[in-house]
Amino acid sequence: MPVSEFDLIRRYFSRSTPERADVLLGIGDDCALLSPPPDQCLAVTMDTLVAGRHFARDADPEALGHKALAVNLSDLAAVGAQPAWASLALTLPEVDADWLSAFMAGFAALATAHAVQLIGGDTTRGPLSITVQVHGFIEAQAALRRDAGRAGQRLFVSGTLGDAALALSRQQRGEHLADALRQRLDRPMPRVALGRALRGRAAAAIDISDGLLADLGHICASSSIGAVVELARLPLSPAVSADVAQRGWEGPLSGGDDYELLFSVAPSDADGVCAELIAAGHEVQEIGRLVDEPGITLVHPDGRQTREQPRGFDHFLT
Ligand code: ADP
Ligand code: MG
Repeated sequence: MPVSEFDLIRRYFSRSTPERADVLLGIGDDCALLSPPPDQCLAVTMDTLVAGRHFARDADPEALGHKALAVNLSDLAAVGAQPAWASLALTLPEVDADWLSAFMAGFAALATAHAVQLIGGDTTRGPLSITVQVHGFIEAQAALRRDAGRAGQRLFVSGTLGDAALALSRQQRGEHLADALRQRLDRPMPRVALGRALRGRAAAAIDISDGLLADLGHICASSSIGAVVELARLPLSPAVSADVAQRGWEGPLSGGDDYELLFSVAPSDADGVCAELIAAGHEVQEIGRLVDEPGITLVHPDGRQTREQPRGFDHFLT
């Protein structure tokens, strides 16, 4: 039975997510009407996932719905913003009811967990592509920015590094994937609560989407500084540790899709901030420091030092 665009919208998008009091008009009109808190600024970000580029055409649609929102919430986390609203632009090759229901189930479950309302979007026919935009709120002075790094600040990361990249390489080699590892690739959990906790505590911050070195490189470039990273301190899961022993440090240093936070803290505050974050249940680990000299120095576990040029994924260089 053919389904009209109107039916699609009503069936899959309207009322799929929590209703917020600050949404005066949601899905169904020409525009959404939104009422941001008067004393905060809007944090706005957008990410696109393209079939064949970011995911396989036959990828699990529920995981895709989760991930399309998660990568955007991770950007809000990186500036310390509180998520509020999302819009969704979907380009679909055809109307596949099972695919759409599963996609929206994954999207809505994560949106509900973060009290995010889907407030509009666009639906067109064409090669499968998913664009999500999210809006969050942040006090202007409290936003965590890439350009706030200063020499002497200590560097921290959340969670563990390299799991998603390891999962992807095992998947591509057709190897067995433990469920926990697959989840790190398919269902990243954006560090929204940590981002909120970093307001007033951290200096610079970024979410690690393109690998530690590339994203640390962004902080260094924006802040006109360099960094020293101690490899022995990198937080690694047992699976990634074992992989590093065989294949070296490429995965945790340059693998993408971690969606952890990397942040710097003033040296005088660092011990206290780290203790408070851990006491509040956040997984954070100190990995190095920011220095005046540009570039990234890696201190290997045997004490040897190497200099790194930031590398990461770049759509137009690869
Ligand atoms: P218009 O033609 O005026 O741009 P549309 O027909 O594209 O409006 O959309 C009608 C309503 O449905 C709008 O409120 C729009 O935001 C919403 N909408 C369309 N596609 C989506 C989607 N993929 N997700 C959420 N809302 C959507
Ligand atoms: Mg219109």
